[in-house]
Amino acid sequence: MLSAAGAYWRGDAANPMLQRIYATSYFKKKDLDEHLMRLEEAEKRDHRKLGKALDLFEVHEDAGGGLVFWNPRGAALRNVIEQYWKEEHKKRGYELIYTPHIARAELWQTSGHFDYYRENMYTMKIEGQEFVLKPMNCPGHILVFKRRLYSYRDLPVRFAEMGTVYRRELSGTLHGLLRVRGFTQDDAHIFCTPEQIDDEVDKTLAFAIHMLQTLGFETMKIELSVRDPKQAGKYAGSPEEWDMAERALEESIRRSGREYKKMEGEAVFYGPKIDIKVIDAIGRAWQLSTVQFDFNLPKRFNVTYVAKGGERRQVFMVHRALLGSLERFAGILTEHYAGAFPSWLAPVQCLVLPVSDGHISFARALLARLAEAGIRAEMDAREEKIGYRIRDAEMQKIPYMLVVGDREADQDSVAVRAHGKGDQGTKTISDFVRELVDEIAARRYYMQNK
Ligand SMILES: [Zn+2]
Repeated sequence: MLSAAGAYWRGDAANPMLQRIYATSYFKKKDLDEHLMRLEEAEKRDHRKLGKALDLFEVHEDAGGGLVFWNPRGAALRNVIEQYWKEEHKKRGYELIYTPHIARAELWQTSGHFDYYRENMYTMKIEGQEFVLKPMNCPGHILVFKRRLYSYRDLPVRFAEMGTVYRRELSGTLHGLLRVRGFTQDDAHIFCTPEQIDDEVDKTLAFAIHMLQTLGFETMKIELSVRDPKQAGKYAGSPEEWDMAERALEESIRRSGREYKKMEGEAVFYGPKIDIKVIDAIGRAWQLSTVQFDFNLPKRFNVTYVAKGGERRQVFMVHRALLGSLERFAGILTEHYAGAFPSWLAPVQCLVLPVSDGHISFARALLARLAEAGIRAEMDAREEKIGYRIRDAEMQKIPYMLVVGDREADQDSVAVRAHGKGDQGTKTISDFVRELVDEIAARRYYMQNK
């Protein structure tokens, strides 16, 4: 038995209170032990606890459930991820755009969301007109694409945006950063010709895998969702378009040499997709990347390009997100690393610890040199014993602690301690800075070297 809780009959507070019992069962004791170990480990890693303990992010009841506040340290983590994400997108031919958070209801009528997604959207009246807080970024990206007429020579066009969206979720379903009401999708839309889809899917898949691995997820599972052949009538787009898209997705996974699971009938009505799930440090699977064809919106918005012969043709449109949402991803990443982020991601990379008051001015000069080198550093000059402050920095999971006393001040050096690894010896400041700058630039994980 795992736990017990009170629950009203059918969830209604007017009904009598019943006892709900949570339990689990395994055939072998070994499997049960493993499961219990994992639960214990998961509890230690809970991003809601770590988010508070490490001062990263939290939800304030004053503002409402499911709305995430990023404290300075959490914002630093997010900023590193965003910068890295933007750099990689620019390298790969994406154009970064911004679109507004609210738009007239008519836009969502054209997209169809007003018909089948309405109960998930926040709506408001302004000067008698109805507006919608955007639940997704696609219609906005289509408007940007349609601002001009593209020819086949201009394609593919790839728009990317860290797009914040809002969706209605019942308060009972909210959970830390994993299930929220406002979140920022790492969204992109690719507009291309049918001849370009193989290449685009290859590139997107490789991009997703590269990014997830760099961020620390070595193991992943790929799922391919295709039509249900028995329900051919329920899908948007022609059977030929579906054939082309499903084949492109499947062949791309095959070319990558990775295993995948094909799921018949799991595709949504508007197109087939690839999902990538990562396996975290304690063996849990998390759905992150999606590469999704769409045969619905290009038709509804009449999104076309000028083909070779001069005629207008409908574009092939692909929605894709690599991390899913920044909020959820930050929660998953925190649990994956148990808050001990590799130096390139760590909100605070170095903590400077002056041994006594006499060393504070040297410590300040050191902080300035670290900042100059682009290193995120702070100082802990509290009137506490050095051992106490080191233990505290270990609890904060800061990658490097730099202890400075008389000897260090004389020799322009630092006594280095690494999180979880202890004393690393004394280094000159210039050597330490050079090594750390290299480590950060290489996005190396010090976790692996443990
Ligand atoms: Zn989209």
